[in-house]
Amino acid sequence: MPKADKQALLEQIKADIIKRNICPDLAQQATQLVFGEGSADADLVFIGEAPGKNEDLQGEPFVGAAGKFLNEMLAGIGLERKDVYITNIVKYRPPNNRDPLPDEKAAFLPFLRTQLEIIKPKLVVTLGRHSMDSLLPGLQISKVHGQPKRYRDQVYLPLFHPAAALYNGGMRQTLIDDFQKIPKVLTAIN
Ligand code: URA
Repeated sequence: MPKADKQALLEQIKADIIKRNICPDLAQQATQLVFGEGSADADLVFIGEAPGKNEDLQGEPFVGAAGKFLNEMLAGIGLERKDVYITNIVKYRPPNNRDPLPDEKAAFLPFLRTQLEIIKPKLVVTLGRHSMDSLLPGLQISKVHGQPKRYRDQVYLPLFHPAAALYNGGMRQTLIDDFQKIPKVLTAIN
């Protein structure tokens, strides 16, 4: 499918979330929906947890401190944000950045799945426990981080969340090391 058509379909999903009033309590407290950003045709999709304060204000995922770290790791493998697609499992900011609730993750999951069906990436990188749990149930991030997993015809790479790793020296280096595996994992697919 041409990239412009994919982009148009993604816009429709975004409109659908608003029209169907998904998670009205979250929507009411948030500034705006943070749907996703990047190439509708990307080989590589990153999925975080939920927007934080900066993301809520700017309407784009990963634009705060964790986003800066993500950008640095992308640059480390020769990529920019426009080369990939970045989104979250939950698309409105939870109040005070609390963890997303199970029913909030469940409410947004069908839309996330449709996003992935349209983009058809080679590799989905989950950032943190919440995004991994939603797409690859039953795994423990401490055990499987940095290991590619094929599940229902999609390859995933579970990674630690950049916000969790940012101020934790050991986890930070582990995330950087795992991130560096992305090009090899991508080449090995197909
Ligand atoms: N953390 C996330 O999980 N997502 C964002 O968009 C920003 C921070």
